[in-house]
Amino acid sequence: MADIIKLLPDHVANQIAAGEVVQRPASVVKELLENAIDADATEIKLVLKDAGKSLIQVIDNGVGMSPTDARLSFERHATSKIDTAEDLFNLHTKGFRGEALASIAAIAHVELKTRNEATEIGTKICIEGSEVSAQEATVVPVGTTISVKNLFYNIPARRNFLKSNPVETRHIIDEFHRVALAHPSVAFKMIHNGNDVFNLPESNSRQRIVNIFGSKTNEKLVPVSEETDIVKVTGFVLKPEFGKKSRGEQFFFVNDRFIKSPYLHHSVSSAFEGLMRPDHHPGYFLFLDVDPHSIDINIHPTKTEVKFEDEHAIYAMLRSTIKHSLGQFNVAPVLDFDKDATFDTPYAYAGKSPVMPTIEVDKNFNPFDNERKQPSIKFPFKRESASSWESLYVGLKDQNERDRELGSFEVESEEVSGSLFTSEKSSEAHVTFQIQNKYIVSSIKSGLMIIHQNLAHQRILYEGFLKSITINEAVSQQLLFPLTLHFSKPKVVLLQGLKEQLEYTGFIFSKLEDEMAEIQGIPVGVVESSIEGIFEQLISDFQNDVPDAGFSQNDLLAKSLAKTMAIKTGVSMQREAQEHLIHQLFACKEPSVSPDNRPVLITMDVADFDKKFM
Ligand code: ADP
Ligand code: MG
Repeated sequence: MADIIKLLPDHVANQIAAGEVVQRPASVVKELLENAIDADATEIKLVLKDAGKSLIQVIDNGVGMSPTDARLSFERHATSKIDTAEDLFNLHTKGFRGEALASIAAIAHVELKTRNEATEIGTKICIEGSEVSAQEATVVPVGTTISVKNLFYNIPARRNFLKSNPVETRHIIDEFHRVALAHPSVAFKMIHNGNDVFNLPESNSRQRIVNIFGSKTNEKLVPVSEETDIVKVTGFVLKPEFGKKSRGEQFFFVNDRFIKSPYLHHSVSSAFEGLMRPDHHPGYFLFLDVDPHSIDINIHPTKTEVKFEDEHAIYAMLRSTIKHSLGQFNVAPVLDFDKDATFDTPYAYAGKSPVMPTIEVDKNFNPFDNERKQPSIKFPFKRESASSWESLYVGLKDQNERDRELGSFEVESEEVSGSLFTSEKSSEAHVTFQIQNKYIVSSIKSGLMIIHQNLAHQRILYEGFLKSITINEAVSQQLLFPLTLHFSKPKVVLLQGLKEQLEYTGFIFSKLEDEMAEIQGIPVGVVESSIEGIFEQLISDFQNDVPDAGFSQNDLLAKSLAKTMAIKTGVSMQREAQEHLIHQLFACKEPSVSPDNRPVLITMDVADFDKKFM
């Protein structure tokens, strides 16, 4: 019998190999975006038609290629990223196998335009089914544009297996997210069938997440950060209450590469144990930085699986770091005076043996006493009589009421043992002072509390506004002369939609039409000259984040107003004002976080000081 084994022609070999790298349009998107990142692009634009089935185009402003490199880039195993097999263990690029462009060119019509800094004139190459059909000089800026048309045109079976456009688009968006999240300092755009889908400016990690998943995500994020000899972890987990039944946002990045890891996922899930319903999954965006020598990425063609040298150590470290972050986040309820503080176990006590609970009986309780007593609140600050500085703060209708309540808090605080704050009975007055016109420092029983004045005031105003809007009651100060502001038509329409809620915060409109707002009353404590700025900010907040339901609309309104009206950093505050701020803060439901979920205060224990003096 004659010999029957023959070498496959290149284009057939390429087609077969392409099957490993390119399963669907999203695979092409991933490879092209990663090449642009590897080329140090700072701006990357992805243009799609028909879910990438007709066109996938990636335009970058990276380093570009010389004419020779441009031609070579389509050869199999042609790469500029590694020289030797050892380099595989010192990777700082996304690509290294040198097969993406060869694979893509085997199964589509590809056009490459590129130029590097060293070459005056650029190169254009057209290639179809691995055959170069044209190569010519062209005038282009430095960078690379690759257009991939008619994917799988020569493999009808694969083309027929592609899913509907919405499904393929979903896959593309997933890949786009993965690359964009890993590289917040790079600006990304995605355009599909002529419509802008994403426009992500250069930013930081948190902003990038928010830009992709919407502004409400911001409040859901709990920062995670830890560094050990083998791994550095940064990023965010979503608060337990935002866990989803379906797998929601779950992202691991290792050295800025998105990876899938059921093992590490398990570690994160176990950190949430007891905080989330068993059928729910946590959300996370976690960035692991490890020594490239300690991982092997070369175990899967799409490079989404990674083998770690110290897998067990990373598992344990991830779990404890996330637990710790969630624990810190749970500091909030410790300061929540609506609850009994003893219910919340501070993280540091986890694992220690519990103490037998004691029962406290309110001996003075009289069921026939109509005046409902406030629960025991540990409040250290003396009520000051109202004076002019109080107008610094927006009064919020129920100010007096609240102050009365605070008065009663204080009396009770003297009976409480183990209170958070130092006893107020002693002659030593309660000391607060301001540092750098930014933080208010106060001594508390366990050490020190440092309060961010701007964020604290935001929290106070935010809760106040929300309350006024919810209970539909407002106090307003009448203006002597109505204030007229001019806005464009769409802005006036936007304000009309918010008119009712705005009135509950204290704004009174005598006219709101025809590109103009005439304002007769404003919230108490607000300076007239700041009104225009407040409205401009409000309008822009609503333009950038169109909330759907009534509740989120109120929330955004309260947040926006609180932000613009709050006492700024840099403002010097008198002692009385400092104390009053603390006073109001601890009358809030959630004193320890700002409306945007930033920490409002930190505490430092004497034990921490002690350590520093050892
Ligand atoms: P790999 O990324 O694994 O090296 P590819 O087939 O994706 O393999 O790309 C081959 C080579 O082409 C890369 O090593 C790089 O030198 C060059 N290249 C590809 N895309 C770009 C781009 N957008 N900008 C500059 N060079 C590129
Ligand atoms: Mg590549």
